[in-house]
Amino acid sequence: MKLIKISSVSKYFNGQLALSDFSLQIENRERIVIFGPSGCGKTTVLRLLAGLIAPDSGSISINDEVVAANGRIIKEPDERNLGMVFQDLAIWPHLTVKGNINFGLKAKGIPKIEREQRLREILKLVRLTDYAEKKPAELSGGQQQRVALARALALHPIALLMDEPLSSLDLELNIRLRKEILRLQEAAGFTLLYVTHDRDEALAIATRVVIMKEGRIEQITDVLNAGQYFEKAVK
Ligand code: ADP
Repeated sequence: MKLIKISSVSKYFNGQLALSDFSLQIENRERIVIFGPSGCGKTTVLRLLAGLIAPDSGSISINDEVVAANGRIIKEPDERNLGMVFQDLAIWPHLTVKGNINFGLKAKGIPKIEREQRLREILKLVRLTDYAEKKPAELSGGQQQRVALARALALHPIALLMDEPLSSLDLELNIRLRKEILRLQEAAGFTLLYVTHDRDEALAIATRVVIMKEGRIEQITDVLNAGQYFEKAVK
């Protein structure tokens, strides 16, 4: 069974085609990178999958359940159980690390004993146990990224959607956090959909790469072929 099926999805904004006939099937534990230049439709794919916008045509299924089809959202974002980490992180500045993670768990109605258990597990996983009582402003950029990751992962999402999560960071931190994301993905075993316009980042993260151009899929390929594709594109 495929975890996620996106079938012939198209999306228009103000009469302009942003995404054309996009199809992708994702297996459990894959790391899919959606790659392409700015404006090619990458974020639109994530927003459609998250349920923030509806496809104009085509359909989206998660765990064999249709969540959106032909202009209609069938399952709302909060019913899809997808985790999201976007570039601006959107962690609460007035809450501690623990408070930030707890917020989503409480909103989901998870009982206190289980919340505490999940908090302990996730803080250990992202190596922030000693920072649980700190506010985001007291943390480094990399630690703040890990808070955003922990907050998403604590909800045990079906898949994690990441939109250019590292693009505002310097190269050294960017490379360090790529490794951290890979380590977490192996340890926690989540399925990852990751958007970037950076070739090195794409090759470092992906098991499969979706190469996009002007709202269309150019190729869906493994990392080796994607590397060769990028080399040719440079020449
Ligand atoms: P990418 O993530 O690859 O940079 P996007 O998916 O954000 O690209 O955008 C694809 C196209 O759709 C772009 O031309 C963009 O301007 C347009 N677009 C995206 N969202 C909206 C919106 N809410 N309203 C109008 N146009 C949009």
